[in-house]
Amino acid sequence: MVSDEKLDVLFFASGYCVAQSRIVNPGGGWGWRRFYAVWVLIKHPVMGVILFDGGYNLSFNIATKAWPDRLYRWVTPVVVTDSDSAVSILKREGISPVDVKYFVISHFHADHICALNDFPNAELICSKKGYEEVARLDGFAAVRKGILKRLIPVDFEKRVLFLEDISITHIDNDSQLTFFVPFGQDLLQFVDLPGHARGMFGFYVKTSDGEILYGTDASWESDMFLNGILPSPVVRLFIDSWPEYMETNRKLLLFLRNNPGTQILFTHCSRTLKYVRFPVENRII
Ligand SMILES: [Zn+2]
Repeated sequence: MVSDEKLDVLFFASGYCVAQSRIVNPGGGWGWRRFYAVWVLIKHPVMGVILFDGGYNLSFNIATKAWPDRLYRWVTPVVVTDSDSAVSILKREGISPVDVKYFVISHFHADHICALNDFPNAELICSKKGYEEVARLDGFAAVRKGILKRLIPVDFEKRVLFLEDISITHIDNDSQLTFFVPFGQDLLQFVDLPGHARGMFGFYVKTSDGEILYGTDASWESDMFLNGILPSPVVRLFIDSWPEYMETNRKLLLFLRNNPGTQILFTHCSRTLKYVRFPVENRII
């Protein structure tokens, strides 16, 4: 289903929020846990430098100063410094903000889109379904869905490329997962993962270390996901569609059963953190 060429991806994290660990594992102990905002740098031979999500930056504090957006930081207090931001990390990696060709938005929750305004030259790839919801909602209705409208660049509609418009799609026979092949380049494929947020998607890639399916927020912990342990029912208040969430989880499990060599990673999963290149002083899990 994908060419034999390999594409390496680099994982980073920009800030974290703090929440009860029982949210992801209702059977686990009480305690607070850090949910790191992981994002991915991809140096694509044809598409150029791609960011898949971008973590938090200081614009979160500005966007959540006033009501009703302030509710967001009450529910999930965020810790981030300027040097944690994607733009600062990339500069340390020798990548200027203007070198980023595409900023791929898995979905519009703040821990994925805070950095949008830091990359003015990047074209923005998102799902049409996801953006239609963002454009339609405002005020409390938007915050309730995890959307902070102040984080959306004013020129968003000039720079956006909808995934559905730039891709050919195919459906995996066994799992029924839908894959998007952007610009006819199957080195990096996007995977439709609805449920957690409207129009959310992840990616599938063959790296020199093996195949990775990055499931973004389709689950919180891969160990819970692989053992069929569902998150706390409280998450149903925040996610887009519980039936679709369950259906996406079922399809992902089927895909892994039929592709046992594929590693599944999620944005906030402790297994993903093993891949994250943290500055040494920040590595506290
Ligand atoms: Zn999310």
